[in-house]
Amino acid sequence: MTNVLLVDMEKCTSCKQCTLACSLIKEELFDPHRGRIKILKKEDIALGVQLLCEQCDAHPCIDACPSGALSRDEITGVISVNLDTCTESGSCVEACPYHGIILHPVTNKPLICDLCGGDPYCAKHCVSGALVWTSGDDELVKTKKKLRSARMAMYRDVKKGVAK
Ligand code: SF4
Repeated sequence: MTNVLLVDMEKCTSCKQCTLACSLIKEELFDPHRGRIKILKKEDIALGVQLLCEQCDAHPCIDACPSGALSRDEITGVISVNLDTCTESGSCVEACPYHGIILHPVTNKPLICDLCGGDPYCAKHCVSGALVWTSGDDELVKTKKKLRSARMAMYRDVKKGVAK
């Protein structure tokens, strides 16, 4: 069985509780700019698109890092940052196809979801059920990817100004 964070845009209310919960547990303060999950909010159509590290197999962020500061846990897929060797180039942010890496507003170091070591705090605070940490089989992994594709399509539409 695989543990998977299901991220469903259709259920997101853009409340940003996830972002605040994340910044609290990771940074010990409420700051939506310091969460490892970001919500792209489009108020006229009551939409929230969740953006966060997807622990993808391709990991272009690692390949793009000029100082080799990123590494990946082969079991969980979690990407870690070596803060000592990171040069704050922002290359990982540019390389991520899911727009899931955020730069810390003060240090400029990348903030990357680490699934809270296997018990994501954001999911506990998402009352709408848009973030669900659950275990399942390959079907669940397929569902996760399908939900991700829908979010990325909407992200592109929002950026192009054609979302509806
Ligand atoms: S807590 Fe849930 S509903 Fe609120 S913004 Fe985050 S994902 Fe969306």
